[in-house]
Amino acid sequence: MVKIPVVRKVLEANDAIAEELRELFAEKGLAVLNIVGSPGAGKTALIEKTLQRVGERMRIGVIEGDLATSLDAERIASHGVPVVQINTGGYCHLDAAMIKKALTSLNISGRSLLLIENVGNLVCPAAFDLGEALKVVISSVPEGDDKPVKYPSMFSRVGAVVLNKIDLLQHVRFDVEAFRRGLQRINADAPLIELSCETGQGLDAWLAWLERQVSA
Ligand code: MG
Ligand code: ZN
Repeated sequence: MVKIPVVRKVLEANDAIAEELRELFAEKGLAVLNIVGSPGAGKTALIEKTLQRVGERMRIGVIEGDLATSLDAERIASHGVPVVQINTGGYCHLDAAMIKKALTSLNISGRSLLLIENVGNLVCPAAFDLGEALKVVISSVPEGDDKPVKYPSMFSRVGAVVLNKIDLLQHVRFDVEAFRRGLQRINADAPLIELSCETGQGLDAWLAWLERQVSA
């Protein structure tokens, strides 16, 4: 019976650090996005495609969250941008204290955009504020078109939804309109950006949306 107060305390402590971070990011003029999604949805791939295409328009830093390994951070580092890996040691989400610690070894000065790749999970990352401006959820065609209605706590909290792997629509049963209707019910304000990191289709719309976040 003590479980609920303990959870609330954890979240309150997290929110206090997240507010500190939000002030720091505002001071630095840094746009920060918390990128969430299931394992394999394409979070790292989207960050890589973004880094490849963005050129000098945005100066990006990256924080990579994973249970274990630095495989994703190595992929990101190969693009020549500052990146820090957080290994949560089994924890299924990032929290604000982990971001605060990561910032001690990430040089964000002169950066205009910080992308935080959360642990692959559609559940608890919804509850943990990292001081970001917005959460972005990446969903992908093989996961099925019911994700917005099945994970409302996540989809209701995001500022944008990316639907990745649309090149697979011809091979997989997935009703884009059903996905869109589900999202509309849960979160009518979040734009839906359909793309394929594999073929590059839709990436321009994603980059245009990103640029608006940075200039906002
Ligand atoms: Mg990844
Ligand atoms: Zn978790």
